[in-house]
Amino acid sequence: MHWARSNRYRRELLSTARRCVAAGWPVLPGAWWSPIKRRHVCDIPTCLAAGPHPSVGPIPQDTDLAVYALCHEEAVVDAWSRHPYSILIPTGIVCDVVEVPDSAAARLLPALRRAHLVGPIARHQSQRFIFTTTGSRLDVTDPWFGHNRVVPHGRGSWVTMPPSLLDGRRVEWLIPPPPRPPWRLPDRDGVLEVLTAAVS
Ligand SMILES: [Zn+2]
Repeated sequence: MHWARSNRYRRELLSTARRCVAAGWPVLPGAWWSPIKRRHVCDIPTCLAAGPHPSVGPIPQDTDLAVYALCHEEAVVDAWSRHPYSILIPTGIVCDVVEVPDSAAARLLPALRRAHLVGPIARHQSQRFIFTTTGSRLDVTDPWFGHNRVVPHGRGSWVTMPPSLLDGRRVEWLIPPPPRPPWRLPDRDGVLEVLTAAVS
């Protein structure tokens, strides 16, 4: 049986989603990978999206994704017992994310360690690294990030977290959150300052 359809994978997803809300991180159920259709699928009948996306729509334009985020264990158990949703973290609420390519991550991580600014870090198999920081409640775009393929995720955005399958490949932790809350996050502005120095 394909990993995407195994009970063990579903158990891992549920347990991670529960840990997220226990740590105070809201989660969004995301379209899941179908190994048969070779695309992401969701349970919204009118949805045609094949890539990763929140499975909470249809979302009216300009609606804040945070409205759809699940914050309580019962809601998470209810959702993940229905489908093997990918785990998406809506950013800009509790945490923001700075997404960087591997070339920048290799320089950024040692610099962040020296500055004691390392939180949970995930790695997508596309060699993109997901550095978590404190939430800013700021909008996604920031003109500073027009280069180096650095993508900031703030209010209104989301990222796929482990152990979800993203385009059929497992998202993994480079640095996992601690077994028990609190999941301390490095200060967003501090991380951006180090990033500026490391990749410029
Ligand atoms: Zn969909």
